[in-house]
Amino acid sequence: MSFDSLGLRADLLRAVATQRYGRPTPIQSQAIPVILAGHDLLAGAQTGTGKTAAFVLPLLQLLAEKGHPQRHPRALILTPTRELAAQIGERVHAYGIHLSLRSTVIFGGVGMQPQINQLRRGVDILVATPGRLLDHAGQHTLDLSRIEILVLDEADRMLDMGFIHDVRRIINLLPERRQNLLFSATYSDDMRRFSDNLLQRPKLIEVARRNTAAETVIQTAYPVDKARKRDLLAHLFHREDWQQVLVFTRTKAGANRLAEHLGREGIAATAIHGNKSQAARTRALDEFKRGAVRALVATDIAARGLDIAQLPQVVNFELPNVAEDYVHRIGRTGRAGAGGQALSLVSHDEMVLLKGIQRLLGRQITLNPVVGFEPSLTPPPNDPEPGERRRGSHVAASAAPRRATPSPRTGQGSRRDGQRSRTASPRKPT
Ligand code: AMP
Repeated sequence: MSFDSLGLRADLLRAVATQRYGRPTPIQSQAIPVILAGHDLLAGAQTGTGKTAAFVLPLLQLLAEKGHPQRHPRALILTPTRELAAQIGERVHAYGIHLSLRSTVIFGGVGMQPQINQLRRGVDILVATPGRLLDHAGQHTLDLSRIEILVLDEADRMLDMGFIHDVRRIINLLPERRQNLLFSATYSDDMRRFSDNLLQRPKLIEVARRNTAAETVIQTAYPVDKARKRDLLAHLFHREDWQQVLVFTRTKAGANRLAEHLGREGIAATAIHGNKSQAARTRALDEFKRGAVRALVATDIAARGLDIAQLPQVVNFELPNVAEDYVHRIGRTGRAGAGGQALSLVSHDEMVLLKGIQRLLGRQITLNPVVGFEPSLTPPPNDPEPGERRRGSHVAASAAPRRATPSPRTGQGSRRDGQRSRTASPRKPT
């Protein structure tokens, strides 16, 4: 199938051609005709599937073809994070380059006045995070009564982040007659209830199996003592000569500490998380994309929606508490069919989390220790449940054959043997 056969107008096809995409992804070939036909849509598509173009292209076409430009927005795209909003805003601009539709992006953490000025000048497509959108609505600097198309992108994340009330309040400000498009990577019962209320006889599209990690991503895990994770990560950077790695930590402080540690090891790194100003977050992302830093250390929320073309490697320095977040994390690589690698550093106390992730994925992730960094066999004192400990050990025992030779490039694995006697400490995750 080609983009030409989807019913898109010539000026959109021209814009797509400059992106050098080749052919549409499955979500694009299925969703675009459905949206153009005016249906509500419930789409199960994880990040990296090309879902943004799947809703932006038909949305631009519908707005360009029906109705007239007005001062008030006619399409609203809600997203959970600022980064995602900014990226969708860029896509709207790129795909709509040959149309005369106006768009703007609204999120918190930056001044309101420039946004107010922009809204006053007139906007057709508004991309926004919920909180700042409600601020504008509350101050009457924004009128949502002309919205014809509502898109909820990464709706599961919006619910997880506690935006459900904000989203409901926003929906109450919209006209009853409108087209609703909901994109979500995962479906909880809450999500099901929410979408049942929102959508009118929706068409259903699911491009990846439910709760399935991108299949193009090669997933591996290294068991390691918690106290040695930082050294192992630095070792891997040197051994594999990694140049661009997105590293996930559980906490903001942990992200800062890890970025500093990598810096001390001669690996340029920066952290991105919710305590940083928008300007600092944009700068960090920019440095990473340009290759000025080799590691971007991120928390889940900050990393949500980051679109870095061809990102080859994701590392879970710590496993997420919620298994679904693992799917989102590894979806940062292997985007739109490209190959990618996701590596998890798993300490003994995280075996229970690994089990949960494996259950969600319906598959095993092989645990292979790195020579010189094999975990000590003593379970850490804060092991969650004796039952889980036993089952966690089973995962380790059923792992593929252990790697038996040191790194051919540096042999650093054995150089660090002296540190093996260090035991895992019960301190907070770094
Ligand atoms: P998304 O899932 O919307 O975040 O898109 C992930 C990445 O895939 C983005 O970098 C897009 O520019 C890219 N992309 C979108 N559509 C296609 C396509 N048809 N072929 C190749 N890459 C695409």
